[in-house]
This record gives sequence, C-alpha cells and structure tokens, in this order.
Amino acid sequence: MKVVLRNLTKKFPSRDRKNRGEVIAVNDFDFEIPDGKLIGLLGPSGCGKSTTLNLISGLLKPTSGQIFFGEDDVTNLPPEHRGIGLVFQNYALYPHLTVRQNIQFPLENRKGKEKLSREEMHTKVLEAAKLVQIDELMERKPKELSGGQQQRVAIARALVKQPRVLLLDEPLSNLDARLRLQTREEIKRIQKETGITTIFVTHDQEEAMSISDMIVVMKDGIVQQIGRPQEVYDSPENLFVAKFLGTPPVNVFEGRVKGGKLYIGEDAVLDVPAAGDREVCAGIRPEGFLLQGDGPFCCGLKGVEVMGRDVSVIATNDAAMSPTVRAIVNAEDMADASPEALTVRFALKPRKVFLFDKKTEKRIAF
Ligand code: ADP
Ligand code: MG
Repeated sequence: MKVVLRNLTKKFPSRDRKNRGEVIAVNDFDFEIPDGKLIGLLGPSGCGKSTTLNLISGLLKPTSGQIFFGEDDVTNLPPEHRGIGLVFQNYALYPHLTVRQNIQFPLENRKGKEKLSREEMHTKVLEAAKLVQIDELMERKPKELSGGQQQRVAIARALVKQPRVLLLDEPLSNLDARLRLQTREEIKRIQKETGITTIFVTHDQEEAMSISDMIVVMKDGIVQQIGRPQEVYDSPENLFVAKFLGTPPVNVFEGRVKGGKLYIGEDAVLDVPAAGDREVCAGIRPEGFLLQGDGPFCCGLKGVEVMGRDVSVIATNDAAMSPTVRAIVNAEDMADASPEALTVRFALKPRKVFLFDKKTEKRIAF
C-alpha cells in the first residue's frame, strides 16, 4: 500500500513557558512512500519522527494537510479503521497474557462479517508467530522472554491483523547491541517476506541505512533529504545530512575556494574548477583520504588506531571544526609511514569531498 503525505503539518503549543507560541513538529511534509518498501524516518531526537508516525497511524490529527493510503484519503479516519500495525520501543505487551493470547488480542472482539472462528484465529496467530519465529514460546508470559523475544511478539501482534501499513517507532532501542543487530535483520526479512509497506523510525543512522530501501532525513520538523541510503550518503544535499550519516563522521573544515582550488588553511588541497570563489565548509569522509608522501593536504599526526584491514589515522588541523580529524586508510599504506612522524600528508578522493556554502550550508557542485 502506497502512503502519500500531502502538505502534512502538525503544530503543538510550545511546552516552554518562556517561549510561548508553537512548535512545528512536522512542517509541510510532501512525499510518497512507495508500495511494499521499507522506509526509514531518520533524525535526531525531537525532529518529529514519532509525530509523523502518529499522524500516519491516526493517533494524532494533523493541523493541516492530507494522508492517503493508496487512493484512499485516510486523514479523518480513526486509527482502528486505517489497517495499520503499530510497534513501539517498549513492546507494550499485556503482562498477564501468554504469547498466544497477546498475539490473538487484536483479532478478538471483531464483529459482524469480520468475526473469526476459534480455528481461524488459531491459524492466523500461528502464522504470525512462525513469521517472527516465536512459535515455540506460545504458552509463555512476557516476563519469561528476553527483550528481543518480547519485541518479536509485539511485531507478531501487529502483523496478525494483516495490516496495510506497518509502523515501527524505534523498535530496537531497548535491545542490547547484539540483539539489536539480529532483530533488525529479522525485521528486514519479515518485511521482504510479507511485502507490507513499512515505516521504521530511528535516530540511529546506521540502523536506518542498513535496512531501509529509502530514508527520509529530518531535522526540526523539516525534511532534509529523501533517497536510497547509499545515494544520500554519497550525495548529501546539505551539511546537516553529511554530518548525520556515517561513522566515523565526516570531517568538516573551514575552507575557501579561490581560482578553482579548494584551500584548507594554506594548502590547496583539491581542484574544484566548477565552484566559484567563496568561503565554504568542506566535508571530507574518513575514507576520502589517501596517504601520500607528497600529498597537498598536511595535518598533524596524533596517533594511529589499528582496525585490521584498515587503520584509522587520528590527525589534527587548525581549520578543522572538530579537535581531531579521522582518516581511514589502507593498513599497508600506513606501514610505510614513519611512526615518529609529527605530520602526515594526504591526497583527497574528489567523490568523498563535499563543499557547502558557509551561510546556507547547501551543497555546492564542483
Ligand atoms: P522524535 O520522535 O523525532 O524524537 P517527536 O515527534 O516526539 O520527535 O517531537 C517533535 C517535536 O514536537 C518536539 O519538539 C516535541 O517536544 C514536540 N512535541 C511532541 N509531542 C508533543 C505534544 N503532545 N505536545 C507538545 N509538543 C510536542
Ligand atoms: Mg520519537
């Protein structure tokens, strides 16, 4: 089911007593979520992710704008008639019910032609449980399950209604690192198997990038960029997006363009023939540095962290906007460098360098 947001806006009265007025939690969202895909809504805490999800679910009413599921305008439809499955961070299972009863819960109390027989319910519950691989645990209570298993039950409960759209709000945040990784792969698998259009909210860029077909990067209620994860990583439209995606993060320098060259400090580090003269912020991905004895970009050398195949070079530069610069280079290239050196010289891979206008922070082509 395709989900379409048209000029969707949600304003809240400000909670801040000193600063009356309103918070625009979702500001004029206008995009389409394609049928059968997994979409990641990504951004820092407070950027409006949950609000967006709650608008789509119907738990919140928009201030203005519309929501469509396929061709249906669902803007004024109550949540229970939208055909959605919801999963939250805290599982929200009924503690006194077994796994089976928890999953079955949404199927009970159906009236009229929606009403299911015992057998039909049983079949549907078992199908959903199998899909998330908890069919062995049906008679347990939630407290007898690990966090990861509890979250699977919550997902099964959301799936049992065969929703048109599955909405997940930070579903992995309560899990430890290993389970988080495992469960996110599970969610990807389940989404592929069922083909249900899924919207996945997270503040964790790695999580969003790893499972989403498409990501929507948000900041302060405003969509910053929409695209396939790799596209957005390779081609961020502004400085915020460049900084938000990637670990280790992009290195940012104050720089200037003059006569078709990018200067960082006194070094002319890269030819940028198509960029006009101006002050810029230069973002360089850690993998954008090449160790080169006569390279144009000179940095102080602070240390080297071995990571196996690659090494991470910790460097400093007066024009850097952070105390350290991190370059990831081939371990073999580093082997040739002198361990006592105080400086290190780099050449840059142009595709890993981004220029942003210093004022607008928008990307500049070069
Ligand atoms: P996220 O899920 O990305 O962390 P939210 O959607 O929860 O962000 O919140 C977005 C903004 O809207 C925040 O500034 C938050 O304080 C505000 N907000 C959310 N819900 C309410 C509410 N019920 N009343 C007032 N402000 C709210
Ligand atoms: Mg939230």
